[in-house]
Amino acid sequence: MRLAIHRGTHEIGGSCVELGNGACRILIDIGMPLVGSDGERFEFRKYRGLDREALLKEGVLPDVYDAFLGDGRNEECPIKGLLVSHAHLDHYGLLKYVREVIPFYLGEATLRLMELSAAMTGEKFTIGNPRHFEHGVPFECGRFTITPFLMDHSAFDAYGFLVESDGKRVLYSGDFRSHGRKPGRLPELFAKVMPGVDALVLEGTLVGSERDVTLTEEQLEKQAAAIIKKSPKAVCAYFSAQNIDRLVSFYKAALRSDRLFVMDVYLAMLLIRLAETKSHPQVPVPGFKNVRVIFPQNICSRLRKHGVLDEAIAKCGQYKIDYAGIEGNLSRVVMAVRPSMIDFMKQIPGLEGSTLIYSTWRGYEKDAYCKRLMDFGREKQMQIEYLHTTGHASPETLKEVIKRLQPKRLIPIHTLHPELYSMLGDNVVQLQRGEALEL
Ligand SMILES: [Zn+2]
Ligand SMILES: [Zn+2]
Repeated sequence: MRLAIHRGTHEIGGSCVELGNGACRILIDIGMPLVGSDGERFEFRKYRGLDREALLKEGVLPDVYDAFLGDGRNEECPIKGLLVSHAHLDHYGLLKYVREVIPFYLGEATLRLMELSAAMTGEKFTIGNPRHFEHGVPFECGRFTITPFLMDHSAFDAYGFLVESDGKRVLYSGDFRSHGRKPGRLPELFAKVMPGVDALVLEGTLVGSERDVTLTEEQLEKQAAAIIKKSPKAVCAYFSAQNIDRLVSFYKAALRSDRLFVMDVYLAMLLIRLAETKSHPQVPVPGFKNVRVIFPQNICSRLRKHGVLDEAIAKCGQYKIDYAGIEGNLSRVVMAVRPSMIDFMKQIPGLEGSTLIYSTWRGYEKDAYCKRLMDFGREKQMQIEYLHTTGHASPETLKEVIKRLQPKRLIPIHTLHPELYSMLGDNVVQLQRGEALEL
């Protein structure tokens, strides 16, 4: 088996891995870079009008032969599949440029998340023929046998993959952690994957980072409840709409304080879509205790454009709360907010003096999108609190994974510091971008 990392050897984001056996190849992830070649935040807007050839030339698309350009006909492609680990853009953001002839393998809930977030951003998004895999169920793809393992990560429905071919085994961790709401995931992985894998391709977002993991999601939930209890007025919580673990933390914190949990109709539909998937996850959809739904105009028009509004009204309408309803319950409300809801929030009388909990990575705070919300909070003299925990594994967790899987080669990915992996374990092989490693 051959392995190459086309992006992600020395960076966080834009992950793309290729595995090959003879002429047969598969790809894992096709992410949008987070940082450009100039070291600045990567802005895809600059390249939006370009076609695949130009994007390859500009280095926006990773240099993967056969992945993006064919001769126009539906000829046999040596790339037998693209596996998508989870619904974070840094893992699937360039997917729409991948040739249609290549089948996409992904979790059912991952696809639902991708579809709805595209509807919100107005992006056109279709996957012609998605193939859904399930946790722990092996499937064949060309000369490879792939077993997906559900991981604990800030994105819902995130997977790592065990890829086997001709007696060789590669484990791709994807993004993961052990302090979220699914602590049983790693023990299950250790029970099912025999030690001595030929290669462990391991994410290392926190390797060499100052950020420490001090909070589990449950501890965060308790701290959120404490903030809510001491807040005399509404509590607005800002977190990524895709971070379902965090949503559950705030929902439970709201229940602990006997408050209403208010979400917008987009978030409500996202949860409904997840709950409809085959694994039926227990997520707090409308109808759950204390859940209320708001219908901001801008979000409704997006849903209408996407053909989802009628369904949303039918499923969420009876749980609707309006400005007056919120005003009348200010001391009883925990509301999930995002910058796109500022216009709605402006119309709630008496929001002054409420609390705004910032619950995502601090690095986003200065981005224009996020800054609008924080500025709005300050304008309204909101009490601003910071409460977050990372979606990624601590160095201690990484060490534990290495100790249990005893890889013959430990391969850094999704990290700024591959050179520090030697402090985590032995047999480190630092690959350069595109370099092929024979296993
Ligand atoms: Zn990532
Ligand atoms: Zn991720």
